[in-house]
Amino acid sequence: MNLCNLGVIKRILAEHGTDTKKGFGQNFLINPQIPFDIAEESYCYHIQNEKNDAPCVLEIGPGIGALTNELCQRYERVVCVEIDKTLIPILDTTLSEYSNVSIINEDFLKLPLQDFLKEHFGAAPVSVCANLPYYITTPIIMKLLEEARSEGRCAFTSITVMVQKEVAQRLCATEKDSEYGAITASVSYYGRVKKLFDVAPGNFHPAPSVTSSVIRIELYKENPHSVKDEKTLFSVIAGAFAQRRKTLLNSLSSYFSHISKDAIAEIITSLGFDINIRGERLSVDDFCRLADKFYEEKQK
Ligand code: SAM
Repeated sequence: MNLCNLGVIKRILAEHGTDTKKGFGQNFLINPQIPFDIAEESYCYHIQNEKNDAPCVLEIGPGIGALTNELCQRYERVVCVEIDKTLIPILDTTLSEYSNVSIINEDFLKLPLQDFLKEHFGAAPVSVCANLPYYITTPIIMKLLEEARSEGRCAFTSITVMVQKEVAQRLCATEKDSEYGAITASVSYYGRVKKLFDVAPGNFHPAPSVTSSVIRIELYKENPHSVKDEKTLFSVIAGAFAQRRKTLLNSLSSYFSHISKDAIAEIITSLGFDINIRGERLSVDDFCRLADKFYEEKQK
């Protein structure tokens, strides 16, 4: 069954008395080359970096199974989490030929991720691969990075996902680019982000209003960034970007109202930064140094 054929998609949905739901960010792929390429990018990276284990993958939002079908042909074990209960009987049919897949009907954002990973994959290395629902792209990515963390790094091998092109540009930006923001700095603490390819709206049903991009977050096995306290790092990043048009000093002093502006100014200049610098000029290593100073200040 060609799960990317528009006629097939419409017929399957109608047979099950359902249709695509905007509220769940449902834009299904209708060009089979796209799920093929996404799965291939995810799997090739996984086997190059995890040579000795049975490859495992987590998919968020399988829809009717177009990408899942490609993942099942490559990975040993596929676990997918789909929020829409009307799609579960459809997936049971479209994926019936595979014995290596489990379909879980849950809201991914509400899953206790550490326990979930242990239950479904044990200690095996896992990659994430998905065509993400755009209304919750950032919360999903941050959950994957923050909740699957162990010993200062994210537990996944890589996260290969389709996102809106604009989000991809933000994720791939450097501190020299206007797209650089809190999410860029946060994600680059955990790994490198690589843009793979763009996908035009006409490749989906229904067509979204914007172009999409497939990116891969390649997680560090050894984190090259060191920081005394990760919680402080993420609050300093949030504070630095809380008021984008303000200087780093003004943005941080509104955010950390319990620390005096003079003390924050002293921290900024002690690191060799101009007092008028803006948050978007700081690299992740700069944020780590800044966070260490804030952490020391907290211990006083
Ligand atoms: N993978 C399919 C494809 O590529 O054709 C569908 C992708 S569609 C863009 C996003 C999918 O995520 C939908 O199936 C939607 O129901 C599901 N979804 C939306 N919110 C979710 C959530 N919170 N947890 C799990 N799945 C969710």
